[in-house]
Amino acid sequence: TAAAGTKDKHPPKPTKPFKKIDLVSELSSNKKLTKPHKSFVVIGHIDAGKSTLMGRLLFDLGVVDAKTVNKLVREAEKSGKGSFALAWIMDQTSEERSRGVTVDICATSFDTTTTRFTAIDAPGHKDFVPQMISGVSQADLALLVIDSINGEFEAGFFMDGQTKEHTLLARSLGIEKICVVVNKMDKENWSQDRFEEIKTQLLDFLTGSEVGFSSEQVDFVPISGLTGVNVVKNDHAVKAFDWYQGPTLVNYLESVGLTSVAIDKDTISKLSEEDFNLAINDIFEVSSSEFGVTGKVSRGLIQTGETVMVSPTKDYLQIQKMLIDNEPVDVAISGEIATMHFKLNQLANKSIDELVVGDLISKVDSPISSVKKFTCDVDLFNMSKPLLVGTPFVLFRNNRQVPARISEIIEIKGSKKKKKHLVSKQQALVVIEVNDDRLLPITKYSDNKVLGRIVIRREGSTIGAGLVTEI
Ligand code: GDP
Repeated sequence: TAAAGTKDKHPPKPTKPFKKIDLVSELSSNKKLTKPHKSFVVIGHIDAGKSTLMGRLLFDLGVVDAKTVNKLVREAEKSGKGSFALAWIMDQTSEERSRGVTVDICATSFDTTTTRFTAIDAPGHKDFVPQMISGVSQADLALLVIDSINGEFEAGFFMDGQTKEHTLLARSLGIEKICVVVNKMDKENWSQDRFEEIKTQLLDFLTGSEVGFSSEQVDFVPISGLTGVNVVKNDHAVKAFDWYQGPTLVNYLESVGLTSVAIDKDTISKLSEEDFNLAINDIFEVSSSEFGVTGKVSRGLIQTGETVMVSPTKDYLQIQKMLIDNEPVDVAISGEIATMHFKLNQLANKSIDELVVGDLISKVDSPISSVKKFTCDVDLFNMSKPLLVGTPFVLFRNNRQVPARISEIIEIKGSKKKKKHLVSKQQALVVIEVNDDRLLPITKYSDNKVLGRIVIRREGSTIGAGLVTEI
C-alpha cells in the first residue's frame, strides 16, 4: 500500500459546483439550512442526571416517546450504569448508528422552532477519553450537568478528577461556552441560596487557573431533568422557583451567542473567502462504487460538484452528493456536520481503508499542510513527573490521535536557561515531532482556531494543551 502522505500528484484544477445557485437565496430558503445549527456535548459526573436530561429534552420536544425513554432509563438504572442510558437514547434516535460508525461517539439531532441541534454524548469512563475528545471537537458548546443535591454535589464534584479533566479538555479544545446545568433542583426545593452557592463554587473552579475559562464564557441554568421544570418549558407552577427570571435550558441553547448565524450577503461573502476545512469523523461505504465521509465544517463553505483534497493522503475527490441531517443539500457552511459522497475510484488505492478519522478536507486551491514536526506554544497542567525531551506521549489534534514527543524546547516562558524538560504549570515554545508513518495534517492556530490546537496526554491523563504557531 502506498504510505499515506508520500504521493506527489499534481493537484487537479478546481471543479465548478454542479448547480449554479444564488447562495443567499438558497441558504435562506432551504428548509434545512435556514435554521442555524449548534452542537453541544454533554459532560458531568456519573449519576448527575445526563441521561435523564437528554431523555427529557427529546421527549418534551417530541423526538422520542415516553415508553422509549422510560425503558432506557430503567435499563440503565438496573445495570447501575446511568450514563449509558444517554448513549442508548442516542442509539435509538440516531440513524448514524445503523451504518456502523467508525468512532464511538453518539450524536443525535433535533430541531426546535428556531434552531437545529446536535447533542453529543461524551463517555464518562476514564478509558473513553479519546472518544470524549472526538466528541468535544465536534461541539460548539459544552453542557456540564451538576447534581445539586446537598452533599452529593460536593462529594461528586471535588472528588472527581473526571469532571475536572472533561472541563479542562473542553477549554483546551477551544469550546467557547460552557453552560452549567444545575440539575435535581426539585430535591433542593428550588432554593435560590443553594443555586447561588453552587454557582459561586463552580465559577471559581471553572475560571480558576487550573481550568481557565473566562467568566463571560460560563453560564448557569437551574433545572430538574426528572420533572422537566425549566428544561423545555417553565410554566411557573413551582412557587419556590419564582425567583428565577432567566431562560429555560432550551431557550438558553437557542439564544446563546456563538458563531454568526444570520445567513445574509455579508456572512456568505465572508464564508466564501475563508478556506474551507472539514475534519473527517466517520468513513463508510455507500455502494460498490461510492463512499462517504461525515465531519464538522470548521470554516468556510462548499458546494456539491466541487473537488476537495484530503490531507495527508493527497486524494482529490469530487463531491457527488452532500447531506445534512440525512437530507440532500447543495451547499454546506461552517458549523454544519455534513456528509459527502465520493467515487471510490478517485481514491488512489480504491479503498476507504486509505482514510482515517481525523484526516482533513480542504479545497484544491487552499491545501492543508501535513507535517512530521511543528512548533507549538504549550501550557502544561499538573503533572506527576516532568516531561522530558524525547519521552513519548499521545497527541490529539481535534479528532486525530497520534504518538508524538517533544524534539526541542525552544524557550520556557519566564526562564532564560536552556532545559531538557518541562514541569507542571510551565508555558513553553516547543517543537513537537509526530511518531507515526502517516503525516499529521494540521493548521496554524491563527488560521483555524479548532484545527490549530493540540492536547497532550500521558499514561491516561491530560498533561497539557497547546496552540500551533509554525508548521
Ligand atoms: P447519568 O449517569 O448522569 O446519566 O445520570 P442518570 O440520568 O442515570 O440519573 C441518575 C439518577 O438521578 C437517576 O436515579 C435519576 O432518576 C436521578 N435524577 C436525574 N435527574 C433528576 C432530577 O432532576 N431530580 C431528581 N430528583 N432525580 C434525578
